[in-house]
Amino acid sequence: MKRKLGKRAIQELDIDGIKVSVEKKKIKNMYIRVTPPSGQVKITAPLSVSDEAICKFVASRSQWIQKHQQRFIQQRVSAKVEDINGENLLLWGQSYPLEVVCSGRNAVTFADQKIVLQVNKAGAQQCEAVINEWYREILKAAIPLVLAKSERIMGVKAREWRIKNMRTRWGTCNIQERRIWLNLQLVKKAPECLEYVIIHELVHLLEKGHNDKFRAYMDSFYPDWRRVKAALNSIVP
Ligand SMILES: [Zn+2]
Repeated sequence: MKRKLGKRAIQELDIDGIKVSVEKKKIKNMYIRVTPPSGQVKITAPLSVSDEAICKFVASRSQWIQKHQQRFIQQRVSAKVEDINGENLLLWGQSYPLEVVCSGRNAVTFADQKIVLQVNKAGAQQCEAVINEWYREILKAAIPLVLAKSERIMGVKAREWRIKNMRTRWGTCNIQERRIWLNLQLVKKAPECLEYVIIHELVHLLEKGHNDKFRAYMDSFYPDWRRVKAALNSIVP
């Protein structure tokens, strides 16, 4: 693609995957720059220089280009993560400080009473997605034990369970399908909340409505349910 800007011609080239904009001018030497914020490569070249020579020039400096592009990416990530670095994250009812580290991969680790988030791309949204994935894995690992214990006590069995990030409900039960949905946000609450919600949803396999019969089941399977329910519902998911 070529476009004319007055007497100058700017040409865009793709050299081994590197997008380069080339401007030819009445100058003696060829110059290369990597510019913020995206790390765009710009070449200023004498009018007589061929595309081939430009390609060679760029190829010979590919390491230098990468180094500088990386630096701009890191700066962008740093600006974004500053917003959430030092924030507190909840896990099983406890609050832990979040440390955000720019890294070559996306990962979350929990060590020394803090949660460390590694992100490789810019964007607070990206950070949230990585954290939610980590939360999901933790909840996913916790559910089978609680569910199996509750099913044993109650003598009912769900056919399957799934996790969903819900805005208004901690759990739901599809009685016909015998499928239980659990809110991803439960991973932030005390473990007893997960147990309460699982038992609540399993009781729906015995009683559809929230009536006296339902409450009687709750009293027998989880006597402390009123306290946990009150604690859970004091905060909207
Ligand atoms: Zn219910």
